[in-house]
Amino acid sequence: MNASLFSRKIVEWYEQHHRNLPWRKTRDPYKIWLSEIILQQTRVAQGLPYYRAFVRKYPKLSLLASAPEQEILRLWQGLGYYSRARNLHTCAKQVHRDFKGKFPVSFNELRKLKGVGDYTASAIASIAFNERVAVVDGNVYRVLARVFGIHADIASIAGKRKFTELANQLLPPHAPGTYNQAVMEFGALHCTPRNPNCEDCPLQRHCVAFRKDLQLILPVKIRKAKVTQRILYYVVIRSGQRWLMRQRTGKDIWSGLYDFPVIEAKTKLKLESIMRELKASGLKVQNHTVPDVIEVPKHILSHQVIHARFVEVSVPPQWKIPRTLFFVGAKFYSASQVSQLPKSVLISRYLKRHGVG
Ligand code: SF4
Repeated sequence: MNASLFSRKIVEWYEQHHRNLPWRKTRDPYKIWLSEIILQQTRVAQGLPYYRAFVRKYPKLSLLASAPEQEILRLWQGLGYYSRARNLHTCAKQVHRDFKGKFPVSFNELRKLKGVGDYTASAIASIAFNERVAVVDGNVYRVLARVFGIHADIASIAGKRKFTELANQLLPPHAPGTYNQAVMEFGALHCTPRNPNCEDCPLQRHCVAFRKDLQLILPVKIRKAKVTQRILYYVVIRSGQRWLMRQRTGKDIWSGLYDFPVIEAKTKLKLESIMRELKASGLKVQNHTVPDVIEVPKHILSHQVIHARFVEVSVPPQWKIPRTLFFVGAKFYSASQVSQLPKSVLISRYLKRHGVG
């Protein structure tokens, strides 16, 4: 199938079937960038309310650039992959400071911004600035692999290069942004992973996967990320209506969000072992304040399964936070302050059960 026939059929389909989404009605690079970052690893239905909330709160890049990080993380709460929110903030500051608040107009310049990879740079460059550069995301891999019968592994560098070259060859001379959106939308709505609508497909006559019955084989993705199982014992210390919390730092999951001091274990711990760990952390638990250990259902992230338990301990008002490593950065917060802190879904769920929103 030649490039111009492919792009024509895809764009015709798009004009009839595309979803009416707010970022499709603008060529403002700020809003396109915002939508692309929010939609990375996220379904449209889930990302849409976040996009609206961000545009409402920060209608201009300068407002986002000057907002406190904690406020941004709070607004992002529940969307996961929190490094995206931190990169979003860094990028806004970078554009505000280095480019006088205007996004650079070329793929190569956009690519240098924090958190902007090939995919996002090509989306902004083609949609906002009409640059002829192909967007290649999971939907595009799937459509091209099936229509052109390509068996290259989409998780390999060589495979990615091959698909990117083909995607660029298929770009029409005009309106590359519309074409890019059309292929992605076609993959998202029509040529879907499990149930492609082959019976009513404008590409059926030309599609290798349809002819050879390879729809569920293509695209090929070989490398699988290893899933790690983690057992976390959150130590929830309450003094009256105040909660002891700390901000996570470093490169681990949920960095920048707030949770409780935590004991990480290799296997499930008995109560005596928990008591020993608490003692080692500097927290003296008396016999009459034996902690309650609350189990919750496992929490699944992309590469980690979290088995969390909450060890609940009450301390008297005069209790002083021990100056041990375990409690570094920990402070007491009132329930209303806790509700304002950015937190993971796991911690929010736990707190909601205790009436803290
Ligand atoms: S015929 Fe089926 S597999 Fe081929 S492009 Fe259409 S929906 Fe996708």
